[in-house]
Amino acid sequence: MTARRARLVRAGTHGPGPVVCWMRREHRAQDNWTLLRGQELALTAKRPLVTVWCLARDYPDAGLRQFGFLLRGLEDTARELAALRIPFVLLEGDPGVEIARFARNAHSLVTDFDPLRPKRQWLAEAAAGLACPVEEVDGRNVCPAWLVSDKREYMARTIRPKIHRLLPEFLAPFPRLRPHPHAWERHTAVPDFAAALSRLSVDRAAPEVVWAAPGPAGGRARLDDFLHSRLPRYMQRNDPNAGAVSLLSPWLHFGMLSAQRAALEVVACDVPREARDAFLEELIVRRELADNFCLHAPDYDQTTCFPDWASRSLDAHRTDPRPHLYAEEDLERARTHDPLWNAAQRQMTETGHMHGWLRMYWAKKILEWTPSPEEALRIGVRLNDRWQLDGRDSNGYAGLAWSMGGVHDRPWGERPIFGTVRFMSLAGAMGKFDVRRFVQNWGETLPEKPRGRRTAVRPT
Ligand SMILES: Cc1cc2nc3c(=O)[nH]c(=O)nc-3n(C[C@H](O)[C@H](O)[C@H](O)COP(=O)(O)OP(=O)(O)OC[C@H]3O[C@@H](n4cnc5c(N)ncnc54)[C@H](O)[C@@H]3O)c2cc1C
Repeated sequence: MTARRARLVRAGTHGPGPVVCWMRREHRAQDNWTLLRGQELALTAKRPLVTVWCLARDYPDAGLRQFGFLLRGLEDTARELAALRIPFVLLEGDPGVEIARFARNAHSLVTDFDPLRPKRQWLAEAAAGLACPVEEVDGRNVCPAWLVSDKREYMARTIRPKIHRLLPEFLAPFPRLRPHPHAWERHTAVPDFAAALSRLSVDRAAPEVVWAAPGPAGGRARLDDFLHSRLPRYMQRNDPNAGAVSLLSPWLHFGMLSAQRAALEVVACDVPREARDAFLEELIVRRELADNFCLHAPDYDQTTCFPDWASRSLDAHRTDPRPHLYAEEDLERARTHDPLWNAAQRQMTETGHMHGWLRMYWAKKILEWTPSPEEALRIGVRLNDRWQLDGRDSNGYAGLAWSMGGVHDRPWGERPIFGTVRFMSLAGAMGKFDVRRFVQNWGETLPEKPRGRRTAVRPT
């Protein structure tokens, strides 16, 4: 594997034990650069290779919906690894502490790159408690985030050429993870994930979803379905009724499917080039722009991350009258005057997946209907992370900051509350797709004559 996918977090002295792969973002056996790097190190040093995963019981805003999907999927991954003679160890507790304890004799520790704050903190704590070398590998992005850019990029237009320059090197086929020849003397059975799930005391308000089969096999099946039945229609992706989007985000978020695998298969697909390119733009450019944002803006979920032009403009409109103000609970229960917003909220709470175009509309209306941008962002983050199966993701923080604070966007015409941050309206939505059909599907009815102006939008 290309060594440029890995970077040293801290130097150290090799211990007498196995190479330890700490899984914390990429939850799959194959198509996983972190495991491939771990196996490379273990084969060179003639050591066992062990995978470890730590259940952090208090991950912010994660509940039964997310933990259920993750733990059920991990069970498949653990079985696949066991068949390759790579044991999987399940720990519970504070990851920084538990990993440092588990890997104290390790030859080396290899882990997934992740720019989100809780994960950075775990890694810093674990690395501080270890004597062995610690490496991180970017297996989430096709092009490693730290190679793409060493600064926060302004928008898709500025990061796109940097990514495209690296694609010939990094968008390459995966080698297979092989049966590991060096056995670990403490060989363990596949952990009991169902018992771990039942022991968890987490928010159970958001139930598990039935449409998404967890694990790499579920992700693979969804990818096959997308390639054959949806990708040819991907140009209709902004129509929430069209069924043209991939619905891959839950598996991508939990690292049960590699974005690189999806990209390789899309490139090889016999569908119109326009559809392929449009999908690869979302899957690679927009998705990697989101990780660039979280890597370089640790305040990715605070209004302090908004660009100056947007902060100044939102400030100037802070005291504008707000004709509709909703309490957080009314928003959460889809009790607003806007049938499209309520329908989108229901789609999210009931299925764990809101359509991408509606996510923009949904977030912008929260900005319009709450007392301040700070409150709007706080509520948006909480609802998104609590109800979306793919929540707590760089994409979500970037999407919310785009919608409410002009991140990766430019100033638009000035108007109340939004200032120069881009606005979206119900009338604009009606000019794009059959809003009546969508809201009826979610038990809402549309008023006869919605007011407002048409605005064509998409994240830039
Ligand atoms: C307010 C708001 C909140 C969002 N919250 C999340 C979230 O919590 N988790 C999440 O994964 N995405 C989030 N997004 C980004 C995007 O809406 C979803 O990734 C997409 O709708 C997922 O559906 P899909 O897999 O069918 O997408 P497709 O259109 O099929 O796209 C394929 C993949 O490309 C990536 N992608 C698509 N659009 C974007 C984008 N705008 N930015 C970054 N990556 C993108 C995703 O990984 C997606 O799965 C959010 C966007 C907004 C505006």
